[in-house]
Amino acid sequence: MKISPAARVAALVCCVMVALSCAGQNLVQKELAKFEKRVTVKVLPNGLTLIICERPEAPVFSYATIVDAGDANDPGGESGLAHMFEHLAFKGTKDIGTTNYAAEKVALAKVEAAYDAYDTEYRKRVGRSPEKLKELHAKFEMAEKAANQYVIPNEFTEIAEANGATGLNAETSLDDTEYFWSMPSNRLQLWAYLESDRIANPVPRQFYRERNVVMEERRMRIDSSPIGRMVEQFLATAYVAHPYGRPGVGWESELSQITATEADAFHKKYYVPANITVAVVGDVKASDLAMLEKYFGAIPAGPKPEPMTTVEPPQTAEKSVIIKDPTQPLYLEGYHKPDYRSPDDAVYDAIQDIFSNGRTSRLYRSLVEKQGIAAMAEGFSGFPGIKFPNMFAFFAVPNAGHTPQEMRDAIHKEIEKLKTTDVADAELEMFKTRARADVLRGLADNQGIAEQLATYQLRYGDWRELFNQLNRIDAVTKADIRRVANQIFVPGNRTYAMVEYQVPEKSAAQSGEPSPHPAPPPKSAAKPQGGAR
Ligand SMILES: [Zn+2]
Repeated sequence: MKISPAARVAALVCCVMVALSCAGQNLVQKELAKFEKRVTVKVLPNGLTLIICERPEAPVFSYATIVDAGDANDPGGESGLAHMFEHLAFKGTKDIGTTNYAAEKVALAKVEAAYDAYDTEYRKRVGRSPEKLKELHAKFEMAEKAANQYVIPNEFTEIAEANGATGLNAETSLDDTEYFWSMPSNRLQLWAYLESDRIANPVPRQFYRERNVVMEERRMRIDSSPIGRMVEQFLATAYVAHPYGRPGVGWESELSQITATEADAFHKKYYVPANITVAVVGDVKASDLAMLEKYFGAIPAGPKPEPMTTVEPPQTAEKSVIIKDPTQPLYLEGYHKPDYRSPDDAVYDAIQDIFSNGRTSRLYRSLVEKQGIAAMAEGFSGFPGIKFPNMFAFFAVPNAGHTPQEMRDAIHKEIEKLKTTDVADAELEMFKTRARADVLRGLADNQGIAEQLATYQLRYGDWRELFNQLNRIDAVTKADIRRVANQIFVPGNRTYAMVEYQVPEKSAAQSGEPSPHPAPPPKSAAKPQGGAR
């Protein structure tokens, strides 16, 4: 039998890929064995989990602290609260950032009392007096000014940076809040002091000034962003019960009324050691644990917050959001799916990879390359978070002259194909090879390792799951993909949102007829983000 050159090439590619994937599997096993020798986990008596990973190649270390509370934990009526801690974390402690904490504490209590008096008047449903409100606000501002005189701005950050800290940052997502930086290893003890101190003793210093900063963030990310506005309406429509339906940054009315007193209650409930995991990676030793325990073990214990009771009820009918706006048209749709602990989690990853990973992915090839109707098209799992039941979403940006409806039809065609026809061997194999490569790539530097170890230890109770997940990825079959696709990609489980171009009222009146061509798409349209950042 004669073998065509094309078939020969295909066979060769197959051999190379199998070789690559076997090599990948061995590499992963070898990495796990290496990590087993280097990683030490200790749960301190107060409940805080400490992870050390020895990588003595360079005299530096990175860390990640993850507090298992994010925007989804904001109490009702107080959306935006979890994110405030990301801001307060750089404002210092009882010892840092103040010229006189004893006096500042008294002054801050006066700020709260003055704000409460203003707030009580502001919230009066009947008989609110504008004069009194003005007077109370002036008193509140005076109290703030009095407290401000004790503030040493940026002292916390300056101490860290003067000692070689780089990449100081924090992130709040709907699921959790993360703090991280890198530092020379001879500053490990100083770091332990700074980090444990700000976890145990944050001071709501300049709280209301930071609240204004966050309100400005909301205006930029949501109110002045077409994608932000669409995502906010999309999530609020897709979710009827679970807080994933709220914007991570908070509703304007709630955010503008949260108080330092409420922040204190949130801190007492969620910033307890049992809810915190800290991973330190780099030129550190398991024997450093005793020193670290002195600092982190001193954080007062508290009960682990009770798990959330709200579970999003099943969606029973298709829902839609149509926004008419004089702006770039957009399309977003999502289907409810289980949280990250689902036995099918890796199947969703496979679907995401096949739809969206790079220029050989199905949505890119079809919508962007072949049909030329989209500037970008992607499907992604875990929107807007992963900890609770979430969505598999599709996002597309139409090219000039094309509509969100065309995105919708083209995406549905691709979904139908996935439901009715098995994916190719090569597609499935590529996904598995890439997943392995991604795990290994994530372990290339101290910061990445710290983040991954802390995340997996927190989410699965064992950092080894970072490697073990590859077994579940290896087990994904073509039949799994069709089964899951048929389960969740159904109209009754779908919510979609589109931004349709509408001529601005003024220019429509001037020109007399609507422009058929919307503004050109941005060069690289940002993907919708779930949580606050
Ligand atoms: Zn922020």
